[in-house]
Amino acid sequence: MSRPRLATVWLDGCSGCHMSFLDMDERLLEIGERAELVYSPLVDRKDYPEDVDVCLVEGAVSSEEDLRRIRTIRARTRILVSFGDCAVTSNVPGMRNPIGPGPLLQRAYLENATLNPQLPSEVVPRLLPTSLPVHRVVDVDVFLPGCPPSADLIYATLNDLLEGRVPDTARSARFGA
Ligand code: SF4
Repeated sequence: MSRPRLATVWLDGCSGCHMSFLDMDERLLEIGERAELVYSPLVDRKDYPEDVDVCLVEGAVSSEEDLRRIRTIRARTRILVSFGDCAVTSNVPGMRNPIGPGPLLQRAYLENATLNPQLPSEVVPRLLPTSLPVHRVVDVDVFLPGCPPSADLIYATLNDLLEGRVPDTARSARFGA
């Protein structure tokens, strides 16, 4: 029988949730035997594949590129997990929401630049007016809160999902974040 296809995605986050994922340590080997990691910042695959069973999405939806990616991910994923507080609430990326993208870019690229100040017109994806939690853009099946969620919580949630169970979301209070 083929193993469930697992993916992890990094949108507008600091990668701390993925660091916590790595903190599962030796349990990663067990997860690797039970699931096939088909897409992740941890592997060298460029395009999000079809038929993903479980995807952990770190980070908020903050740019047009994030928006395009999360819509593709949703269409190709059976169980989408909002992974960490930036995905669940927009958290740190959402701190720029009262300011708006214009003043934010001006501050970052003009006022604080010491060399060649200019607003980016290419390569840097265009920002959305506000940074959004993932569920504001696409349907989310499981919410995994914490900044970052603890390795124990990530493991327990993945264990449930790979066993075909609905994760016990109340356990986040027990495992801490
Ligand atoms: Fe980083 Fe915390 Fe956001 Fe995770 S939830 S991406 S650890 S700021």
